[in-house]
Amino acid sequence: MPSVWPRVRTKTDGAAHEIRRYFREVDADFLAPRAAALVFLVGGLLALAVALVVPELRGERSITLLAGVAAAFGAGALAAPWERLGPQAELVLPVFAFVLFAWGGAVAQGAPVPYLAMLPLPFVFVGITQRPGTSSALAPAAVVALAVADRFAFDATFVSTIVFALPMLVLVGEALAFAHMRRTDAERRVERLLDAVRILARVDDQRRGAQLVASLSAELLGADAVAVLIADRAGSRRLLNRAFFGHPALAESAPLLVDALGTAEFDAHATRFIVDPERVRALAPASACVRAAATVPLPGSGPVPVGVIIAMWTTPRRHLHGSARQAAELLSEEAGRMFRRLRTSAELTHDAATDPLTQLANRRTFARALATMQPGDALVLVDLDNFKQVNDRHGHQVGDETLRLLARHLRDSARQVDCVARYGGEEFAVVLPEAGIAGAQAMLGRVRRSWGAQQPITTFSAGIAGHERGRSPRETLRLADGALYAAKDAGRDCDMLAAESEVEVVLP
Ligand code: GH3
Ligand code: MG
Ligand code: MG
Repeated sequence: MPSVWPRVRTKTDGAAHEIRRYFREVDADFLAPRAAALVFLVGGLLALAVALVVPELRGERSITLLAGVAAAFGAGALAAPWERLGPQAELVLPVFAFVLFAWGGAVAQGAPVPYLAMLPLPFVFVGITQRPGTSSALAPAAVVALAVADRFAFDATFVSTIVFALPMLVLVGEALAFAHMRRTDAERRVERLLDAVRILARVDDQRRGAQLVASLSAELLGADAVAVLIADRAGSRRLLNRAFFGHPALAESAPLLVDALGTAEFDAHATRFIVDPERVRALAPASACVRAAATVPLPGSGPVPVGVIIAMWTTPRRHLHGSARQAAELLSEEAGRMFRRLRTSAELTHDAATDPLTQLANRRTFARALATMQPGDALVLVDLDNFKQVNDRHGHQVGDETLRLLARHLRDSARQVDCVARYGGEEFAVVLPEAGIAGAQAMLGRVRRSWGAQQPITTFSAGIAGHERGRSPRETLRLADGALYAAKDAGRDCDMLAAESEVEVVLP
């Protein structure tokens, strides 16, 4: 597996520092086969030197040959492209070591065998490079090698090596392989986490963000299901978004637990792990299949989280593994940052387009809707009658309340596609796509009925203009405005069509 650190350094900074502090392991994957190759090369060269220098061995062609083969193999292995070959290919190294054992033992012809001290090396190598089980699978090869080395004498040295040393070495190999596997999992988690940090930085949609955080935290925590709850604003217990990742059966039984946990833990500040199945069941009796749960808050800008990650397991657990927990907490930091960013930008977008008093579209949004009007669309201008008097008699607060009230009646009477805007002080504008004059009149009829039903403090007048081919939206606006003036002239509390008003203006 290629090292993850160079990527950490170049592509992420804040999170990278924390992640590196946590996962300090150095990736030694391609160091191991090269180190083994070096052992063969240096060992072979030393054996060659010994064969040349030591008088009794001088001229021993079998030893020179053995040493030469070992050195040549070592040189070849040093240059081999291990990065491309995959971990199984590295098995050739311990197998060759056993071949050397057998050959060396045979050449030494029963002489003391100091190379037995080298026997742990293949098992250590297999332990740090291969999957659990490989050391055990290699044990028979070791027995054969030792038997050949011993020239099938099956003496005390052979028997004690097979009975005592070999099982120990297999155990060492297996233990190392398990540790290696854990490290590989941790590395995979770091890579996933880094991917997550990069992806979350680019997410621009709350719902997609929540879904992504749910699936990522399920992966990092090894959870069977994860729910992500996002509050609609700081300090609120109302949900803006809810995402679920996991088996559909859990999605059906878990909502109650999620609700119980979500409300209980929404203002928690630290990861909490609930191992006690009884407690989980007490929280939500319907989710009996959930045996353990954990909550990780998504940090907000203040002391209140923006939301919470709720992880669930269907099998009992004693604790949350340290690295999984820290990975999930790092993810929650990033996710919290993402949701805060999305919330801020949503608020800015909303504020830029909305009138703060009535929460209707503001004049800027109306101008955009007006500019895109098509023939067949209708435009309505509404103005409260004698509103100055309302203010004068009842005060500005009552005036404001009246504006808010009319805004609500307009919004409730309009369709989803209509743009209902506060045009000016006590003037409103509605753009009704494809509604025609009739649609606009129908809408105003609904407003008049609901407005009249609640003993209004004042009445309102309206001007209607249909947008026609060959006319600019500005012209249509001018016509609607003229119609509104005509309605005022006609005594207020009525609607006037642009065409009618023009006729009326002309008549006197
Ligand atoms: P008309 O029937 O001819 O429309 O008479 P009017 O009194 O409604 O019209 P005028 O233009 O004379 O007065 C509009 C008033 O609306 C004046 C202003 O104080 C008030 N107004 C404008 N914006 C607000 C607001 O945001 N809140 C309150 N309370 N009053 C506002
Ligand atoms: Mg008015
Ligand atoms: Mg006015």
